Amino acid sequence: MKMYGKERAELIYGLKSADEVDARICEMLFDDGAAFVGFSDVSDVAENHGYRSCVTVGFKLFDGILKGIQGAPTYEYFHHYRTVNAALDRMTLRVATFLNSQGFDAIAIPASQSSDSDPFKGAFAHKTGARLSGAGYIGKNALFLSREFGAKVRLASVLTDKEFDLSRTLCGGGCGDCEVCKMACPAGAIYGKNYVEGDDVSELVDVAKCSAHMKAAYKHIGRGAVCGICIAECPKSCLKKLSSQGEK
Ligand code: SF4
Ligand code: SF4
Repeated sequence: MKMYGKERAELIYGLKSADEVDARICEMLFDDGAAFVGFSDVSDVAENHGYRSCVTVGFKLFDGILKGIQGAPTYEYFHHYRTVNAALDRMTLRVATFLNSQGFDAIAIPASQSSDSDPFKGAFAHKTGARLSGAGYIGKNALFLSREFGAKVRLASVLTDKEFDLSRTLCGGGCGDCEVCKMACPAGAIYGKNYVEGDDVSELVDVAKCSAHMKAAYKHIGRGAVCGICIAECPKSCLKKLSSQGEK
């Protein structure tokens, strides 16, 4: 990974060694604003669409936007959420296109798009690929928590038949006894359970309760598509709160 410099190499997870295609993928993702890149083997994951490998891209949400979430989402956060999703979709489309041009089959999984069969799930769980790359773990809020940025990341994935040289080192959970997100959730949707390998999201969070609360309480912001409280409140996200007079 010498070609990236130390700073970028430390933000590439799951790769033991990189060939020219892998190096180009990392280069284009970091140049487009990725906060980290993960590579993983998803051949045992049920919703892998028949692909063996996953490239995960993580984008760090802006602290300045998340700081505004003080008990409720903001219009700025909703706009940021949509803009970041669009940026992630462009990045994964570019990577999948590049992999196709190199003779590999690859598809880009949208950053945020429900599947036909389940309104609370996408075509592939980005956090599964991210976790298997070793870039972080699943928190009690059922979100992916990155080693560097905690919950303040959004993810997208590329699934491909390319085989990568993988290191397969997983990251242990880091929630411990913390219950900040459980206490902060206005819907009472977070059970406060530590993630255990194989757990479904439904074992950590009542997703229907979460969704119903967002649609009822925040329908004036993107028709209840966002909340963000359990991202902003998570101490792993390391945000400093704003007082009404300014930043403390
Ligand atoms: S998104 Fe909001 S309502 Fe849903 S679990 Fe997180 S804090 Fe609770
Ligand atoms: S707030 Fe605490 S329990 Fe919840 S995800 Fe963050 S570290 Fe884990």
